[in-house]
Amino acid sequence: MSYSGPEFDPPRQRRFRRAPLAVGLAALVPGALLGWVVYEGAGRPGGSPGAGAAGQADPATPKSAPVSPTDDAKVASPSAALPLRGKVVVIDPGHNPGNFQHTSEINQKVNIGTNWKECDTTGTSTNAGYSEARFTLDVAHRLRTLLERQGATVKLTHDGDRPAWGPCVTRRAEIGNAAHADAAISLHADGAPEGDRGFHVILPASVHSGAADTRPIVASARTLGERVESGFAKVTGSAPSNYVGNGTGLDVRADLGGLNLSTVPKVFIECGNMRDSKDAALLTSGAWRQKAAQGISEGIVSFLRG
Ligand code: ZN
Repeated sequence: MSYSGPEFDPPRQRRFRRAPLAVGLAALVPGALLGWVVYEGAGRPGGSPGAGAAGQADPATPKSAPVSPTDDAKVASPSAALPLRGKVVVIDPGHNPGNFQHTSEINQKVNIGTNWKECDTTGTSTNAGYSEARFTLDVAHRLRTLLERQGATVKLTHDGDRPAWGPCVTRRAEIGNAAHADAAISLHADGAPEGDRGFHVILPASVHSGAADTRPIVASARTLGERVESGFAKVTGSAPSNYVGNGTGLDVRADLGGLNLSTVPKVFIECGNMRDSKDAALLTSGAWRQKAAQGISEGIVSFLRG
């Protein structure tokens, strides 16, 4: 299902990449392949309307655009078109926009293996009041669209729907476990002092205590986290955090229930610092959130394709 809200900016990259391909192919090959190009131009299942429109000839596109046979084969193969077919990804939008109105529910304590913690928290917000929970839900929708377009089955731990709070961090982990997710990611933005900038990915520490046993997933989660770190840096152009992780963009924690209780490869990402004015300008931009989702998606795709 594609998401289109008032702040949605459709990805433009594909438009410019595909137009020369379609025009080049139309000039070179008749018949069946041209038929495929028309199909492609009309939009594959899950394709965005913007990308579909790129199939129409763009008068500004040079007709001599080169077409490599390798590219043709890659695009025409169904398995290449849906590389994540059969893969399950669980996206956990951190917090919940309704948590602010349900403090007694979210403050109940749950056991995360190592200790007891609040069921969920309100999360942070920008100084102008754009909440982390709204941010995470928006990026989750964008990320879901991108991953489904690659053929993945995507589940969200909540969709800002009922109940209007939580779920508890324990439940967020259970949802990924029950889905036998091939990869799971919890989306967040930080609430650090002004001047603290950048993003970081949080990996599970090796924990074996009570119901928590991350030993089987520590290595795979690290690989997932490294791929997400790399994809996010590349697509957003953001620098790794200047206040956590010594410039690596990676942190390891043993105090997060969502990681401690996971039996599937799972990481958190803090996409930026909502309390820093420069980071806040990025986090509140729909165009930037699309890049954030794209970067995370590229990391997950890289991980799942091995
Ligand atoms: Zn958070």
